[in-house]
Amino acid sequence: MNYSTIDSDVLIIGAGGGGLRAALELDRTSLDVLVVGKREFGDAHTVKAAGGINASFGNLDPEDNWKIHAADTLREGGFINDPRAVELLCKKVPDRVKELREWGCNFNLTDSGSIDQRYFGAQSFRRTCFVGDRTGKAIEATLVDAIKGTNVARKQEVVVTKILTEEGRAIGAVGYDKKSSELLLFKVKAVLLAAGGYTQIYSRSSSRPHENTGDGPALAFDAGARLQDMEMVQFHPTGMVKPEEKLGSLVTEAVRGEGGKLFNTNDDRFMERYSPQKMELDARDKVARAIYREIEKGNGTEAGGVYLDISHEDSESVRERIPGIVEKFREVGVDPTSERMEVAPTTHYSMGGVKINFETGKTAVEGLFAVGEVTAGLHGANRLGGNSLAEVVTFGQHVAVALKEYAKSVSNPSAPEAMIKSGLAEIEDIRDGGGDNDPGELMDELGRVLWKHAGIVRTEEGLKQGLTRILNLRERANHIKAVDKINSERFDRAVELKFALPVAESVVRSAIAREESRGAHYRDDHRERLVDWKKNIEVMGSPEHPELKMRNVEKIPDTIKQALKEGYELDYHHLE
Ligand SMILES: Cc1cc2nc3c(=O)[nH]c(=O)nc-3n(C[C@H](O)[C@H](O)[C@H](O)COP(=O)(O)OP(=O)(O)OC[C@H]3O[C@@H](n4cnc5c(N)ncnc54)[C@H](O)[C@@H]3O)c2cc1C
Repeated sequence: MNYSTIDSDVLIIGAGGGGLRAALELDRTSLDVLVVGKREFGDAHTVKAAGGINASFGNLDPEDNWKIHAADTLREGGFINDPRAVELLCKKVPDRVKELREWGCNFNLTDSGSIDQRYFGAQSFRRTCFVGDRTGKAIEATLVDAIKGTNVARKQEVVVTKILTEEGRAIGAVGYDKKSSELLLFKVKAVLLAAGGYTQIYSRSSSRPHENTGDGPALAFDAGARLQDMEMVQFHPTGMVKPEEKLGSLVTEAVRGEGGKLFNTNDDRFMERYSPQKMELDARDKVARAIYREIEKGNGTEAGGVYLDISHEDSESVRERIPGIVEKFREVGVDPTSERMEVAPTTHYSMGGVKINFETGKTAVEGLFAVGEVTAGLHGANRLGGNSLAEVVTFGQHVAVALKEYAKSVSNPSAPEAMIKSGLAEIEDIRDGGGDNDPGELMDELGRVLWKHAGIVRTEEGLKQGLTRILNLRERANHIKAVDKINSERFDRAVELKFALPVAESVVRSAIAREESRGAHYRDDHRERLVDWKKNIEVMGSPEHPELKMRNVEKIPDTIKQALKEGYELDYHHLE
């Protein structure tokens, strides 16, 4: 079998905000670092992040501080977040944002020259720092610029298909070059997984194709790591509904943060009935469910949406503060400065993922670390808007510290030939197929199954039907058509399917187990949040034989408890 070997000290799988921020930190050491990603360098899912990044500077609302940020994060997360992770995030993120500004990230500023901050859903104060509505793009570009001129090696358009382990230690990975089709072996001392989430396994998603297909959690689980809270999938209230090719594309929360209002087809501002206090800026799960219910009742548009209206605001300010949305809708013939937009919920963020220790970024597998959306625990049952960019830069820097200590303390592993061969043989197996099924069709079917059976509103019966269909898809996935070329759409889809299926199964199994409603997980047959369920669900075992284990959450530190008691809450009517 022909393959190229690449030696390094640390392999970072993922070139989004998390992977790049970690790489910068590791560059300050004597370690050789290699970052790989599926797209061109500088183009990762992070560039899609729009509305902003949270840091409690209190530039507009001086009462804000890290403790209230932590309290908001825990409340939104349904109190199953890892409290220590929340504390670390909220204390450290202001320094990371300042540093981004020093590195050239052009945040919008107030008249006095401090970073401007906007409202975002379910936050007590204006805390979200932004670069118009292209914040992720600006942050990714800043990190890419900072990496130029460092010793960090980059390899783009590479797909990792397996993390290699020997005696329970991660020692490398195998994959292929998407352009040349060359098979690759990476031999390293440590692996940092920064490969993003799994929302694209749903048929309607705010991600682009071939992103967030569950590669990260699947790679880690296959290597022996644990997954956690896989049932917690965030449905963003506002995605586009038409035209068909734009279905699910995000309409950022910044539109509502800047004063956007929701109406049904009877011209009823329905959030007055669902959430009279917080209105359109209530938590994402609540607004998404309200829209879902309105559409279900027949109060939706023909295309299956409701209206989002910001045309009452000053058009110049709308153009300046949410330029991306104005452009996106104008492309399809709608001018948001004078017309209503049609929107409906879309799958947006995976709170579940790889279980890590947030102090170190360590997974259950020695030498395998993880950071960013691929991990679970920080956001609990639901994520505050603006907390993911905060997470990737904060923990990118933070986990690199422990990773560097680890990589310096271990010797170069030897990768046994048999192990390498079996890793590479899995790629050949996918290519050889063994049946007639088209991987793209199976992947599309999986998306529809998840949207229908494990979507915004779930029931035991629906979830069980979903599980049966996923198990059937797993069986059919063993018999796909042979693929002649590695650098082909069909081969990519076959690899994605291999990752997506075990991830989908763990989403559904965990959703069946959680017999309550909490955060983004809503069970129509168990509508209450239950004290007994203040637990995380871990997925252990192997992709072939997953097992679930419930674990109590850690105690909330007293400092944050105090902020929770004080009960800060956004006074929505400020905005009117
Ligand atoms: C439309 C949209 C708007 C958003 N807006 C905001 C916002 O305003 N604020 C906020 O905080 N968050 C926002 N988010 C969420 C946020 O963008 C993401 O959670 C965050 O960027 C994730 O960063 P990451 O570094 O963990 O992973 P990603 O940016 O997803 O990067 C993953 C990397 O891993 C690589 N990869 C994946 N699989 C493999 C593989 N098998 N082999 C090799 N490489 C692989 C990818 O190519 C990529 O380079 C938004 C998300 C979307 C979709």
